[in-house]
Amino acid sequence: MTTAITLVRGDITRQSADVIVNAANSSLLGGGGVDGAIHRRGGPAILRECRALRASRYGKGLPTGQAVATTAGDLDARWVIHTVGPVYSPDEDRSGLLASCYRECLRVAAELGARTVAFPAISTGVYRWPMRDAARIAVETVKATGTAVEEVRFVLFDDPAHEAFAGQLP
Ligand code: ADP
Repeated sequence: MTTAITLVRGDITRQSADVIVNAANSSLLGGGGVDGAIHRRGGPAILRECRALRASRYGKGLPTGQAVATTAGDLDARWVIHTVGPVYSPDEDRSGLLASCYRECLRVAAELGARTVAFPAISTGVYRWPMRDAARIAVETVKATGTAVEEVRFVLFDDPAHEAFAGQLP
């Protein structure tokens, strides 16, 4: 079965999907951008589970390129999957880590039985990854990952981001 890739412009915390992906940082304890918005709208249950993860499996934080699921709290989703994108570096190629974020989120989502997954443009905010390159890596990785997830929806916050992702699709 092929995975449908869809694009929408908007706020990821307003999406209805089995999984909403959080562009988290390794502390799992919140931050700005998508992370701040998810905790604000999702309520305290998400942070509680993140704290429990820090107290157990991820004592040193969630490593870059990995993914872990929690409840979605008050969001219109079953789970939030937190992933830590790499900070962009002009001197070092970290695109493997960015690709890993998408792959690991899809792996965790499929394990949970999720059919629809909403992704933000990971690493393109505070972590400064150039949007066009990030869009290319995101779309190529999803296409190359065989997954049982039926719909991968990229939720882009503004027109330039939406255009960058649209440019990667037929
Ligand atoms: P990172 O730290 O991985 O760079 P950010 O959350 O700072 O993550 O930004 C990732 C992308 O998500 C940026 O393109 C940013 O404009 C966008 N973004 C910020 N808030 C939201 C939101 N509520 N919904 C969807 N996208 C968002």
